[in-house]
Amino acid sequence: MNNCIFCKIIAGELPADFIYQDDKYVVFHDIKPKAKTHLLIVPKLHVVSLLNTDKNDPTHNEMLIDMIHLLPKIAKDRKLPGFRTVINSGTSAGQEVDHIHFHLLAGDIHGF
Ligand code: 5GP
Ligand code: ZN
Repeated sequence: MNNCIFCKIIAGELPADFIYQDDKYVVFHDIKPKAKTHLLIVPKLHVVSLLNTDKNDPTHNEMLIDMIHLLPKIAKDRKLPGFRTVINSGTSAGQEVDHIHFHLLAGDIHGF
């Protein structure tokens, strides 16, 4: 957590191009976009990945439901007709940042 890039972005210690923020979530542009629109939906709560969520933890359940609902909200706000969601879970699956996040991709998707 101490060395987590996304926690540093959330804390304002590293810059990011934010498009949405509330008390629990941030959404910002991916630094290396793999689509015309490539956004990252990130909870302020540091959870490593889906491999670390617990269905008996109400905080985790609320977080996952909120993140799912944020995807179409952001897409509609940005007038995207559709989008792809990618959730890399674990280093072997290509997860680079160990802070759970959903990718939202739309338009000319490449590399996923
Ligand atoms: P993962 O591979 O963990 O699913 O995705 C991590 C994503 O975070 C990658 O697409 C990568 O380009 C993006 N990323 C890594 N570091 C930064 C950063 O400092 N700022 C932003 N905006 N995106 C980052
Ligand atoms: Zn973190």
